[in-house]
Amino acid sequence: MQRYKNEKELFNQNPIASQKEIIHEICFCFLVAKRNTDKEQAAWLIYKLNPKYKEYINKWCIDLDDKYEKLVSNRIKKRNEMNRLSQKRRHQKHEDFSLTNEQWEETCESFNYCCAYCRGEEKLTYDHFIPFSKGGSFGKDNIVPCCTTCNSSKNNKDFITWYPKQIFYDMEQEQKILNFFKYA
Ligand SMILES: [Zn+2]
Repeated sequence: MQRYKNEKELFNQNPIASQKEIIHEICFCFLVAKRNTDKEQAAWLIYKLNPKYKEYINKWCIDLDDKYEKLVSNRIKKRNEMNRLSQKRRHQKHEDFSLTNEQWEETCESFNYCCAYCRGEEKLTYDHFIPFSKGGSFGKDNIVPCCTTCNSSKNNKDFITWYPKQIFYDMEQEQKILNFFKYA
């Protein structure tokens, strides 16, 4: 499946396509996707569409709603649970700057000395999984190795909304990161 970061990019890549054509393309991607990650990404795009496009979707793929709502509701459930846990941690750990060199080394090893997000092997920097500006600590339960490109792209965004929009999005890696922080 062709990976689009978001609806805007989709329109930009195909400026002469009508809205109907674009929606049709996403629905098609959803219906033919063999891998769950591709299905989920298409479902997510459909979910994020402006409500006015949903009329078209209903005309073309009448039973689509059921299929993607299940996928999307899982993602929302996951996000809500993460928000709850991260809020809890925010309160507990705001003053934590405790990451030791040893812990950093162990963390890098857990991610095979690659960027936790794109798995590139560039120079690794510290990424606050929960952004520092949102109360994330500099402790071992909030730091992952991250390349400079991902670090500046993620910036102060939430992982769960930022990561699925990336071209290198991978559901297994997402799960691995969530497991690493014991969110899942
Ligand atoms: Zn990266």
